[in-house]
Amino acid sequence: MAFGGGYVGRVAHVDLESGRVEYDGFGEEFARDYIGGRGFGVHELFQSKPVSALSIDSMFGMFAGPITGTGVPLANRLTMVFRSPLGGAIAYANTGGYAGAALKCAGLDGVVLRGNRDIPSYLLITPSSVSLENAETLWGMVASETLHALRAKHGECRVLSIGPAGESLVNYANIVNDAGRASGVRQGAGCVLGAKRIKAIVIVSGYTQSVKVADRARFLELLRRLNTKIKNSPLLNRANGLFALYGTPLAVNPLALNGALPCLNYTRTKVEGAERLSGASMSKSILISRLTCNSCSVQCRRETAGSGQYKFRVEGPDFAQISSLGSNCGLTDLEAVGYLNYLCYELGLDPVETGNMLAAFAEATEKGYVPQDAGLLWADTKRMVELVQLIAKRQGTGALLAQGADALARHFADDLLSVAVKGITVQNADPRAEYAWALLNATENSGGAAHIWVYPELITSFYSLQGIRPVLRGHETDFDEIANAVKVKQDLVATLDSLQVCAFSSMAYDLGDYRDAFNCITGLEISTEELLRAGERIFNLERLCNLRYGIVEDEFPRKFSEQAIASGEHAGRLLPIKELLYSYYRARGWMGARPSPLKLTELGLQSGG
Ligand code: SF4
Repeated sequence: MAFGGGYVGRVAHVDLESGRVEYDGFGEEFARDYIGGRGFGVHELFQSKPVSALSIDSMFGMFAGPITGTGVPLANRLTMVFRSPLGGAIAYANTGGYAGAALKCAGLDGVVLRGNRDIPSYLLITPSSVSLENAETLWGMVASETLHALRAKHGECRVLSIGPAGESLVNYANIVNDAGRASGVRQGAGCVLGAKRIKAIVIVSGYTQSVKVADRARFLELLRRLNTKIKNSPLLNRANGLFALYGTPLAVNPLALNGALPCLNYTRTKVEGAERLSGASMSKSILISRLTCNSCSVQCRRETAGSGQYKFRVEGPDFAQISSLGSNCGLTDLEAVGYLNYLCYELGLDPVETGNMLAAFAEATEKGYVPQDAGLLWADTKRMVELVQLIAKRQGTGALLAQGADALARHFADDLLSVAVKGITVQNADPRAEYAWALLNATENSGGAAHIWVYPELITSFYSLQGIRPVLRGHETDFDEIANAVKVKQDLVATLDSLQVCAFSSMAYDLGDYRDAFNCITGLEISTEELLRAGERIFNLERLCNLRYGIVEDEFPRKFSEQAIASGEHAGRLLPIKELLYSYYRARGWMGARPSPLKLTELGLQSGG
């Protein structure tokens, strides 16, 4: 169907075996129910065979949203949906930059890949075609080499590529967006493309076609309103907003002060010298410029370079990498963290999972499961660099570490080593100190990959920052209040990931803004209730996928409910996960971890999505 604007109305389906490409469209009802991006991807996965992540029949989808590429401030995301090789759960990995807008300008809302290539290939998307090209000469290249080689051949283009780690099927290999922007690409997306022998997805759009807008007058009024909100935000204002000035590493100090920073594989909540990892410290040391994404004035992304012992220039590190490769490994040398982040991006490893794996290995060494000379000591950068390189090649100890945290814990017969939820390790904050964060990670359908700045109003450590809009009024024992707040925000985030707007926008926008954006761009009329209901539908459909994959419980690492916080503000605190989950399932209208038949009927999912 032809839409008034926003949607192209075209999704490409690529059979990697034969190279055949077919196109299909979608109608108004589907657009209202699943919005775009994450919603479209989850629906496609639910329709696919429930095969294992690396099976030849597995699906990998990549979708933009209806407001991507229109010029709405911060509307620039692209979501990849697939089944994770780490824990087998549904995965949705979100990335910013320019690829989402490029895909729309190339005339597609999404691309779905199935099957495997017999030789290394890359997918080339242009406004006139989608084709598979030979990538044998690119196989083995690191991210920056792949980017340069493909740009030398195709000129200005967007490149989503895997590195040596994806090629050697490291379970947490990632996909690098141009030469960075992979903070949200966890869950082993690069491993899935590696199994399919797809080295890269290249989008040559030239931005020749612009995305249509149905109601131009309302749209321009909306742009004025949203730009004013960003300008007035104490967090997002480009010149003096805290988040803009210090980026995601702004989180370091509030979490450290509140005793909630992940340290030494979550055996501590503080590490000596944590302030050296902060956003303010980065501004004075390794920061060389601020980067941004399509249609965003905030510029929260960092570009850093090492001028001392470590030579690198790269995007990041983001707070997620700082808290995993840094504090969680006992490392407070920001330049060393920057270098490790750079290595992970070049090799195509998820830096967050890598950091948390190294932290688990250091704890295993401390516990005496590995001799010190073969293991890892806290903050031993030289050995961390060696291990990162071994992981990417799956060589020696790297072969064990490449499998993921749960496999490592099984190897040493000590499940306290793993902080993985549905196979993906929890990042950013200690769940015992932040109960809403714990519940969120326990119940997310894609496991512990949530990003803390997507949920700032649920993080009590952030309440001291100007511009945060708290929703928990300090009742840390009111589990119903926490559960309701988590449920509402999860549904909202599913909606934003489907509209494909950066979730950091919710520090300034409200639900009415997102509704107005959808309505004036697409020409459809939807209420705020319907928009949130679409998010809830998507979240429940993800849950149905997981149930089909045999993931029937929301299990949370035993470490958090059985090992109390050792010292600091929350000393002695354990996580009451059972009580929190009880309140949560009630808030969702579920029967335990399963959506009830009544809830499915209410969401129109009774007949299987
Ligand atoms: S706020 Fe940051 S991550 Fe979000 S769109 Fe802007 S620069 Fe990108």
